[in-house]
Amino acid sequence: MIKCPHCGEQAMTPLRKTLLGPAQSTGCKRCGGRISVSAAAFFALIPFLLSMILANSLADRGWLLIGGSLAAGFLAMVYIHVTFIPLVPRDE
Ligand SMILES: [Zn+2]
Repeated sequence: MIKCPHCGEQAMTPLRKTLLGPAQSTGCKRCGGRISVSAAAFFALIPFLLSMILANSLADRGWLLIGGSLAAGFLAMVYIHVTFIPLVPRDE
């Protein structure tokens, strides 16, 4: 789901897309068309937010568990973004 809605080529890296919010837009690296992510991108934040809550509850269990929890939440967010959240065209 990182295909540009204008030209159909890969518009950006998965990490770049994950960091792009629905309120922002960017240019496709191939055709330069303005693109953003669908508002469904908020759903991708859920596992990362949950991992923060989990990390907070593990605060006295050591940094390995905290770091592991945050890393898992972040990877889940990237995975959901890349797999389920479509890029949408933006006209500005
Ligand atoms: Zn494009």
